[in-house]
Amino acid sequence: MAYELPPLPYEYNALEPFIDAETMHLHHDKHHQTYVSNLNAAVANYPELAAKPVEDLIRDLASVPEAARTAVRNSGGGHANHAGFWKLMGPAGTAGVGGNPTGEIAKQIAADFGDFEAFKKAFNEATAKQFGAGWGWLVYEKGKLKIVTTSNQESPISQGLYPILYNDVWEHAYYLKYQNRRADYLAAWWNVVNWAEVNRRFAIAKK
Ligand code: MN
Repeated sequence: MAYELPPLPYEYNALEPFIDAETMHLHHDKHHQTYVSNLNAAVANYPELAAKPVEDLIRDLASVPEAARTAVRNSGGGHANHAGFWKLMGPAGTAGVGGNPTGEIAKQIAADFGDFEAFKKAFNEATAKQFGAGWGWLVYEKGKLKIVTTSNQESPISQGLYPILYNDVWEHAYYLKYQNRRADYLAAWWNVVNWAEVNRRFAIAKK
């Protein structure tokens, strides 16, 4: 069974005006599709790999044959990262999207960062500083939330961590609308964060 591009869980224009429809078409239909296609090519000769969920591949990269490892890190990471990323967003103003965090994650953010504004500032600053292409992540380690960044399509899953909330700062995620203004994109992105999904992921991270 080949890996497949999951459909977006909303319309391409659903994240307007914060993320434009053209960016979503390119990002999902072209960039994410390319990661899926390249991952399928990378595991074509390894049916035992192709049978696994993509998260299992990137959780244990050392077990991937060396000839396929870099491609699995890049394209498997790209597939897993984007598949989760689409679900972490939703139409601004709908239930549980944008605004202040809700549920258990709201309490944990307050405990570990003081308040939501301080957390947002720390996340945006760390992620703005990621040099070149990469991601900013919120993970949960030893009972505390922690902000980390990675390059390219590296995932915290490969470091034994489960990402709760994360944002893509490859230029393809924002350049059409925000050009070089990564900080403006980061600030706007919180309007489309799906806190219900963040809470679902937080419950998994705590297990
Ligand atoms: Mn991307």
